[in-house]
Amino acid sequence: MKSSNELRDLLRRIDRKGYPAYKDIRGMYEFPDFVLSIDHVQGDPFASPSKISIHVDGKASGFPKGLYKNEMRRAALQDELLRQFGRRAESETFKARGSGKSGLISVSRCGQEILERSGCRIRMDNGDILLRMDVGLPAVGRTINAGEAVKIFFEQIPACVKKSLYYNTLDAGRLEKISELADNQAHIRQKLSELGLCAFVADGSVLPRESGISQKPMKNAVPFKSPESMAVRIDVPHGKPLRGMGIPRGITLIVGGGYHGKSTLLEALERGVYNHIQGDGREYVITEASAVKIRAEDGRSIKNVDISMFINDLPNGRDTRHFYTEDASGSTSQAANVIEAMEAGSRTLLIDEDTSATNFMIRDELMQLVVSRESEPITPYIDRIRELYEVYGMSSILVAGSSGSYFHKADVILQMKQYIPEDITAFAREKAAGFPVPSGKLTACEKPDFNRRPGPCSQTMDRRKGGGERMKVKTFGRDSVQIDRETIDLRYTEQLVDSEQVAALGYLTGYARKHLMDGRHCLADIVRELERLMKEKGFEAVCESGWLPMGLAAPRTQEIFACLNRYRKMNL
Ligand code: ADP
Ligand code: MG
Repeated sequence: MKSSNELRDLLRRIDRKGYPAYKDIRGMYEFPDFVLSIDHVQGDPFASPSKISIHVDGKASGFPKGLYKNEMRRAALQDELLRQFGRRAESETFKARGSGKSGLISVSRCGQEILERSGCRIRMDNGDILLRMDVGLPAVGRTINAGEAVKIFFEQIPACVKKSLYYNTLDAGRLEKISELADNQAHIRQKLSELGLCAFVADGSVLPRESGISQKPMKNAVPFKSPESMAVRIDVPHGKPLRGMGIPRGITLIVGGGYHGKSTLLEALERGVYNHIQGDGREYVITEASAVKIRAEDGRSIKNVDISMFINDLPNGRDTRHFYTEDASGSTSQAANVIEAMEAGSRTLLIDEDTSATNFMIRDELMQLVVSRESEPITPYIDRIRELYEVYGMSSILVAGSSGSYFHKADVILQMKQYIPEDITAFAREKAAGFPVPSGKLTACEKPDFNRRPGPCSQTMDRRKGGGERMKVKTFGRDSVQIDRETIDLRYTEQLVDSEQVAALGYLTGYARKHLMDGRHCLADIVRELERLMKEKGFEAVCESGWLPMGLAAPRTQEIFACLNRYRKMNL
């Protein structure tokens, strides 16, 4: 390791040289309170910025071990440090001036959910902190401006580090609160299964968001309140017990007039698989961690999925035990989404009528009379919903505003009335009794076959370049990721909440393609191995380089499956 003075000398020496001379400063430098590591140097002032990491010794940073003693607390602290650093960096960025990205200082932008991110990692054994940032090394035109670089390395970065990565400069009370919230959230999530619940929504929660493009809480929203019959009280490690609505395992139907807040509740539940930050309004909306949103997704590819539970005897004679298509219909896509969620270990399915294929969800009475069951390939979800729960242990939470058919199947029926749920189970059941549904003989389906073993991909890129070339991953916001020019569309994988998760999925898929898809491992094994790698060796392991070209955030198991399932090059 070199001293910080050596960095200063180096910079002085390359001043006014051509930009590529910046490559000489790569390396680690010891500063008084931390180690600064220049991991990657950009090729020119307009290229994507350089990668700098900061390493602070656990003893020096001084955070009490209690603040990162378990994974939940650690994730919350990492998230907070990243936000603190981000705030300081924002006030420093572009103060050093020059061409292109000169003077940029930035870290991962955190949203409302707390995610494990490559941007900040704390080691649980010794408290060492690693923080990664992007820096635009300053230039005038295309020549090095060492004076401005010295300002960044010796004034701006140290100031940000000092104010955000040391315990004694931060608000101890706030940090304690953050840890306590993490404990409470973990506790409730753990309690769910004990109490036989899929989800918990605390009274007073604020579910709606500010706008369609902002995940900040809506101001002056009607706070959530549980109907008495569904209310549960959960003791939490810190503070008073929480009262809220417990959604029991089984089948829950959410009805109500248009605009009364049905979808808003369901969306809060979708995101409730993540912990939210203090002040979000959904910090105590806790959904069982494996819950998956199921929707129609016309046009997706499906590879060797057994959708025979829902679809059989297609007119073109296609095998639905091993169904393939490059362009799924609404119903086949939604069927595949259910079966894939089952394969991914999901125990709760979240469905909104608004985003479902009608023919997948129901067949009304008249249609059943006119078009006999024998000539209809689709067994709608309504005919499998109980079997899914009773045989496969998968609960459903279903929003339905226009069809009453599900009244017959639901264990609990909620009506949203001006954003507040009412338990109308008894009333709706009574009404439904007068409307018997004709149901033909239904045969139980065979257990779907999950023995899918992707073989090696025919990747011309890999072969041409001897496989040695670094894989190219490019993200398009939260919507899709490209691996070596093959796009994976993730727009409808709605529980992805951050573009950094999408980036991570790109690298995970690339890694799987290169190392794990060999015809021997089934998809579940591949996902398990990817998660093990990420957990034990960090994000670098799947990225296969010493530095990360972009910020990554951990996706859930379910989204890793979802991404692989949408990878059109997968050889299945
Ligand atoms: P639905 O699915 O029942 O038609 P939505 O959930 O889409 O209704 O909600 C309709 C509108 O009401 C949305 O603009 C939403 O932001 C707003 N909204 C939802 N919940 C609340 C609430 N608790 N307080 C105030 N406005 C809300
Ligand atoms: Mg709606």
